[in-house]
Amino acid sequence: MRFDVVTIFPAMFGPVFQQGVIGRAVERGMLELQAHDLREHTHDRHRQVDDMPFGGGPGMVMKPEPVIEAVEAIRARNSGPVVLMEPWGELLDQRVAAELANETGLIIVCGRYEGIDDRVRAALNAREISIGDYVLSGGEIPAMVLIDAVARLVPGVVGDPGSLAQDSFSDELTGWPQFTRPAEYRGMTVPEVLLSGDHARIKQWRRQQAAQRRVPQRKELKKT
Ligand code: SAH
Repeated sequence: MRFDVVTIFPAMFGPVFQQGVIGRAVERGMLELQAHDLREHTHDRHRQVDDMPFGGGPGMVMKPEPVIEAVEAIRARNSGPVVLMEPWGELLDQRVAAELANETGLIIVCGRYEGIDDRVRAALNAREISIGDYVLSGGEIPAMVLIDAVARLVPGVVGDPGSLAQDSFSDELTGWPQFTRPAEYRGMTVPEVLLSGDHARIKQWRRQQAAQRRVPQRKELKKT
């Protein structure tokens, strides 16, 4: 799968995707990630990507032409949908990530300032996605969150498919407490059932624990 990101801060993306699961998948050629400098698509001496809002008000708005032309330039290599990161967009969850992981690529536009000129949305037939109901100063971190969530669902990116199947939100049996060795540390022990080797009991215990873990603030999470 191919991810092309349009941003005024392409350098932010390098180190993030050179490590861990995503870094290895890039090395193995399963993922291609490229950050494109929006300023390369400006036509003026100051390489201006923003301008004052029509109608007045504080802050600046991202101009439509550089964004649209940047995406057009990427199109030759990436036929996937265009995503605009926006705080008011559709909320990213595991279902949205799984849906996007079926695409051959994504072109992701990172906003800055007060946001992106609204004509861009229709012109690029874009899908707006938010990573949560809070406002960040730019779309770069949201784009990284989206890429990570989607990329790890691309078959083969996560080495052991079993670990995806047991991820939170993938299945009703999720989010139980995990332990590893040593079985006792400073008097803190691991629940006896996990050492029992009784897989039916372990499964039941995990299901029960996962249900108990649900915090009242997350009523929308499926009960197990
Ligand atoms: N005044 C704007 C905020 C713009 S924040 C508003 O209230 O809508 C600047 C940019 O950061 C946005 O264009 C978007 O690309 C990005 N951004 C901020 N918070 C985000 C979030 N929760 N999810 C996705 N993108 C976000």
